[in-house]
Amino acid sequence: DGMNADQLRQSFLDFFAAKDHSVVPSASLIPHDPTVMFTVAGMVPFKPYFVGDEVPPYQRAVSSQKCARAGGKHNDLDDVGRTKRHLVFFEMMGNFSFGDYFKEAIIPWSWDLVTGSPESGGWGMDGDRMWITVHETDDEAEAIWHEQVGVPMNRIQRLGDKDNFWQMGDTGPCGPCSEIHIDRGPEFGPDGGPLGDPAGDRFMEFWNLVFMQYNQAPDGSRTPLPKPSVDTGAGLERILALLQGVDSVWETDLMVPLIDTAQSITGKRTIVGDYDDRDSFAMRVLAEHARSSTMLVSDGVFPSNEGRGYVLRRIIRRAVRYAFLLGTEQLVMPRLVETAIDVMGNAYPDVVKNRDFIVGVLTREEERFRHTLKTGLSILDDELTTGDSLSGSTAFVLHDTYGFPLELTQEIAGEREVEVDLAGFEAEMTAQRERAKAARKDSGASDERLDGYREVVEQFGITEFLGYTDVSTQSR
Ligand code: ATP
Ligand code: MG
Ligand code: MG
Ligand code: MG
Repeated sequence: DGMNADQLRQSFLDFFAAKDHSVVPSASLIPHDPTVMFTVAGMVPFKPYFVGDEVPPYQRAVSSQKCARAGGKHNDLDDVGRTKRHLVFFEMMGNFSFGDYFKEAIIPWSWDLVTGSPESGGWGMDGDRMWITVHETDDEAEAIWHEQVGVPMNRIQRLGDKDNFWQMGDTGPCGPCSEIHIDRGPEFGPDGGPLGDPAGDRFMEFWNLVFMQYNQAPDGSRTPLPKPSVDTGAGLERILALLQGVDSVWETDLMVPLIDTAQSITGKRTIVGDYDDRDSFAMRVLAEHARSSTMLVSDGVFPSNEGRGYVLRRIIRRAVRYAFLLGTEQLVMPRLVETAIDVMGNAYPDVVKNRDFIVGVLTREEERFRHTLKTGLSILDDELTTGDSLSGSTAFVLHDTYGFPLELTQEIAGEREVEVDLAGFEAEMTAQRERAKAARKDSGASDERLDGYREVVEQFGITEFLGYTDVSTQSR
């Protein structure tokens, strides 16, 4: 019960539309901005407005933005399956002020939406369970929360840069932030507020209010933005879990159908809420990675050997290895992807339109990896029994001949507490790049970054592909 995802998304858009915000549709997961690999937050498409490169057509905006965090500064890939709240793909609902309102407005508004009654368009959550964090220097935000909103001082905590200073990437807009957490009760961990709960299980963060004030240069220096601005991010899946009265994002109606499909393909059962059980972990990974891959391919990311295409390849291959561990010989992607499309299709009609294409790309990538996976795993198995470090040359052969992304090899080695010799691996990679460069000069062969393009053309034919997306966005 509670709201479904579509109703929740709408409630956020409506709340801010009523406060004169322009409703802006989600942009692509492939950002225009070259400093981040994926759209990692709702503010990414608006960056030119924050830094003053472009004049915004509106001073206030609201959106629910598709996000992916699987590379660079924001990378949650390894957390997926292990925590109750991290996904690679998620939606970030957010409202934005481009030099218009600031802290004094957004803090009380956020409170009204979180705690307001459903009849008045709010989410009806219990204000007494909310904990607030502010940046350690931010007296102003603290005063607004306490004096204006009425949050008692013992539920406001000051945190440092690590948690309460938000940055889009290594460069770009940034500023101190204030976060809303919910106390989920003693059965989720020890008391003490967000400060005493670095794992974030009991005091789960669900909405971040960023007070955009600086632009960070590559050398780390910060200059003030033309005007102080606001950027917020509220995780749709996390809030959905809260409103549906379940413990984690995995039990929401966005994820349950995917977990069910994973169970039916693999014939294994998940134990809800068990984060130690290997099978349950594997099934969460299958569910999430099928959904994130679906959304990435739909936005024009293809499995390839570099850049974001390689991150996608890592996501898919990680999932396929877990399917293999579960003993599943048949392909898992086709049915999982169909389910992902069914779950997401209402909000994102493009995934329905691209159905055959997405299923085709992801099935083909699974097939490719299945050819070499078994042999690769047995090589790795043998090597892992003999010592506490895996040689760079083995990691390289696994990468080069068996298609094992380094991170996958590291994950498997890590499961047996074995370290991979990274320097050795890098040396092999460098040598190989040199060889490839020399060979390309000799033969005039094309760039390997077009790998993904070539595969798709092989499969779908050139006209269909060119009609679908622009390959130049791939390699920027
Ligand atoms: P956490 O500390 O839990 O990792 P965060 O501080 O990295 O979250 P922000 O960068 O502040 O997250 O993003 C704003 C909001 O987006 C978060 O409050 C959360 O609701 C949501 N969010 C962030 N990362 C994820 C994720 N990997 N999966 C689902 N929702 C997320
Ligand atoms: Mg995080
Ligand atoms: Mg955080
Ligand atoms: Mg945060």
